[in-house]
Amino acid sequence: MAAGKRFPAQFGHSAHTAVAPGRGCGVPPGEKPTPEKTYSAAVNPLRTLILAAAGNDTIRRLVATAPVSRDVVRRFVAGETTEDAVTATKDLVAAGLSVTLDYLGEDTTDRAQAEKTVQAYLELLDRLRADGLADRAEVSVKLSAVGQALDERLALDNASRICAAAEQAGTTVTLDMEDHTTTDSTLGILRELRRTWPWAGGVLQAYLHRTFDDATALATEGSRIRLCKGAYKEPDTVAHVAPHEVDLAYVRCVNALLAGDGYPMFATHDPRLVEVIGERARWYGRKPGSYEYQMLYGVRPEEQRRLAGAGETVRVYIPYGEEWYGYLMRRMAEKPANTALFLRSLVSKS
Ligand SMILES: Cc1cc2nc3c(=O)[nH]c(=O)nc-3n(C[C@H](O)[C@H](O)[C@H](O)COP(=O)(O)OP(=O)(O)OC[C@H]3O[C@@H](n4cnc5c(N)ncnc54)[C@H](O)[C@@H]3O)c2cc1C
Repeated sequence: MAAGKRFPAQFGHSAHTAVAPGRGCGVPPGEKPTPEKTYSAAVNPLRTLILAAAGNDTIRRLVATAPVSRDVVRRFVAGETTEDAVTATKDLVAAGLSVTLDYLGEDTTDRAQAEKTVQAYLELLDRLRADGLADRAEVSVKLSAVGQALDERLALDNASRICAAAEQAGTTVTLDMEDHTTTDSTLGILRELRRTWPWAGGVLQAYLHRTFDDATALATEGSRIRLCKGAYKEPDTVAHVAPHEVDLAYVRCVNALLAGDGYPMFATHDPRLVEVIGERARWYGRKPGSYEYQMLYGVRPEEQRRLAGAGETVRVYIPYGEEWYGYLMRRMAEKPANTALFLRSLVSKS
C-alpha cells in the first residue's frame, strides 16, 4: 500500500475538506477527476452545496458552537468522550437494541494519531466491560484510522491490540470497509485477525462488482459479515453506479449470506431492503438472532425499535469522538429533511 495515501471517507470519519458529492468524497487529492469519478456530481445540487460548505472554516465554527446545532450534532453523534459513548450505549441497550461503537478519528498517516485512536478504543472497551455492556456492545474500526495507509503491518498490529482488548472485555470487533483500493488489504487483515479471533467481523459493500463472490466465500460458519450498499464514490469499472443496480446487487448478496453458515449483519435503512431481508431470512429458515439488522445512530430510530420489538436483533452504529464534523455533514447531505434541520440551526445562530 502506498505510504501517505489518503482515503477520503464518505461514511464514518474523514477529513472534512473531502467534499465531493455522491456516495463518496470524490477523487483523491491531487488527482484529476475523470467523468466516471464524478458521475453523480450533478445529481443533488443541495448535497453538493452542503458538502462544499463542510470545507468552510466559518461554517465549521458556526456548526460547532451554535446551541441548536449541538442538538443536530447530538442526533447523529453520541458526543466527544468515552463517557458520552457509554451513556448512549446504555440508553439504546435499555431500549432493547445492540450497538457497535465507532471512534471518529481522521484517516491517518501519522503514528501518533493512530496510537491515539487505539487508546480510545482500549479505554472504551474497558468501560464496556466495567459497566456490564459487553454482551450488547461491540466496536467498529476503520483500518485507515489505525495506520493502514502508513504501513499495513502497523494497522494489523493495532487492530490486533483492539481485538485482544475486546476479547478481554467479552465482546467483538468489526472492521469497517473503506474505498475499493483498500478492499484486498482489509480482507487480508481480517483473515489474519481471524486466525486468533475467529469472531472478528468484516464488511462487504454490495455496490462492488466483486462482492457477490466475496459474500459467497465469506459465508462460512461463525463468519460475521456486515453487508452495506457502500458509501464511497467509486468508478463504474469496479462498482454498480445506478441505485437500482446497487439494490439488486444487495439482494443477491443477502441470498448468498443467508444461504451460507455465517452470521450476516444487514446494514441498511432502506425500507424495501429491510422487508426483503426479512422475507429471504424466513425463506432460508433463518431464525431471528441468526442474523441481524444494523442502522446508524439517529437514522430511522422508530424503525430500529419496531424491528427490535418484533424480536429481531438490531444493532445501532454509534459514532463518537472529537472528529464528528465531517461525519455530521455527510448525514446532513444524505437527506433533504436533515438538510432543512441543519439550515434552521444556522439561521437561529445568526
Ligand atoms: C450500521 C452501518 C454500517 C455501515 N458500515 C459501512 C462500511 O463499513 N463501509 C461503507 O462503505 N459503508 C458503510 N455503511 C454505509 C452504507 O454503505 C450506506 O452508504 C448507507 O447505509 C446508506 O445506504 P442505505 O442502505 O441506508 O440506503 P439509502 O439508499 O441511502 O437510503 C434508503 C432510505 O433510508 C433512509 N435514510 C437513509 N439515510 C438516511 C438519513 N441520513 N437520515 C434519514 N433517513 C435516511 C431513507 O428513507 C432512504 O430513502 C454503513 C451503514 C450502516 C447503517
